[in-house]
Parts: sequence; structure tokens; C-alpha cells
Amino acid sequence: MRGIASVREVACVGVARTMLVAEIVGPAGAPTIALAAGVHGDEPAGPWALLATVRDGLLDRRFSYRIWPCTNPSGYALNTRENAEGHDINRSFHKGGTTPEARAMIAANRDRRFALSLDLHEDFEADGYYCYEPVVAEETPFGDALVDALDDAEFPVQELSDAFDLGYPPEAHHLRVLSRGRIRNDPDAEREFFDVTPYSIYLLHRAARYALTLESPRKRAWADRIAMHRTAVTTIVARFADRGNENLAECPSS
Ligand SMILES: [Zn+2]
Repeated sequence: MRGIASVREVACVGVARTMLVAEIVGPAGAPTIALAAGVHGDEPAGPWALLATVRDGLLDRRFSYRIWPCTNPSGYALNTRENAEGHDINRSFHKGGTTPEARAMIAANRDRRFALSLDLHEDFEADGYYCYEPVVAEETPFGDALVDALDDAEFPVQELSDAFDLGYPPEAHHLRVLSRGRIRNDPDAEREFFDVTPYSIYLLHRAARYALTLESPRKRAWADRIAMHRTAVTTIVARFADRGNENLAECPSS
């Protein structure tokens, strides 16, 4: 990312590792978009897709960006979902963070507000791409554009039904609405229902107007997974740009 982004190391207090965070500064007053990948260490296409997206100049420079290219560095090195201590970082964003990585990200985000957040994952069971799009002010403005772009590029889109395991127990199925390539979920109801908090749900409560989680199909070819993630990021950012000031209403402020 040399010459494009400034990169710094963030300490993970209590463990012998650091995380990288990159900043791309846009025009004065530009909204900031948060991009993250690799919170599950055995989902490698996300980090590499983010790096390629920045390297190839695909990010709309009208915005600022905070980029976490790999939020589980120890799990990435071990090729495990969890971090080196065996904890799922994406279930640790409650109570100020219950893993060193979550605490480091929450501390680094203090006083920052994001207009949009995208978190890149992979799904071992999926045959096609899909996203979680939490409902904000009764709207889900990005998922339709994403599915259209995937169809246009002839990428596979995941069919979703209650038979597809998304990790929700049956008694939580009312918290989400499934359609092809899209899970529309209620972030406030999920925070009430579950004891643990994923990254996107924490951001929506604290720091981001919109926060989508993107899932590439892990069993597909590497180059296709990278291409799908790149298409998803650029499509959603383009949709965000098209919406203009509609994006900025009621950003969380505490
Ligand atoms: Zn994941």
C-alpha cells in the first residue's frame, strides 16, 4: 500500500503481536469507510482481496478509509478460525472487547465515526457469494446492488433458506430475513438476543451508520473468490456514493 495509504501497527495488549491498520485520507470532510478482513484466520481471500483492491486503485478517492487488512494475524498464521488462544474474535466485541484484538480495534476506533463498514469473510459451505446487511432505519440499500453486480459478472450467488446453516439457532431465525445472496438482520434485536457480539454489530451500536458482512464461497477457486470480494467492495462503495447525503443521517454518536 506504499504511496497510497499510511500504515501503522496497533499493539494487542497482553499478547506478543500487533495488528496493522492503514489510513487513506480523502478530501476534507469526506465520510470515512471502514474495511476489514481476516477476523477468521482460515478465510484468507478477504485480506488478499482488500490488498489487491487498494493496490489496483479501485477505491473511490472521494472518501477516507480505515483499513484493517487482517484482524486475526495469529489465526491467519495458524490457518485457524480462532486466534492463538482459541477465541473467536468475531464473538468478542462485547464488554469493551474480550480478546486482545477486539480491545485493540475498539480502542483505535474511539472518537471515530464511519459512514459504512465492510467486513470480508469466507464460508466453507457456500457455493455462492452472499452478504449480511443489517437493517438501518428500515432500509437495506446495498444488497440489491451487490446481487445485481454479481449476476452481471456471472459470479455464483448463494441461495439462502433455513436449511443453510448460518450459525443462528432455530429460536433466532426470526431475527433475520433470507433471500438470494442476502441476509437482512436486526442489529438491535441480535444484541439483545445473543450474549456475544460480532464486529459489525458492535460498529452499528457504537460507530458506523451501515455495516455489512461479506462472505465468499471458500470452496471456489482462489482467483474467483478474490474477484468476487473486489466486485462486492467496489459495488457497495459505488452505491454508497450514489446515495450521497442520505448516507449520513443519524450516524451513531455514542
Ligand atoms: Zn468468517
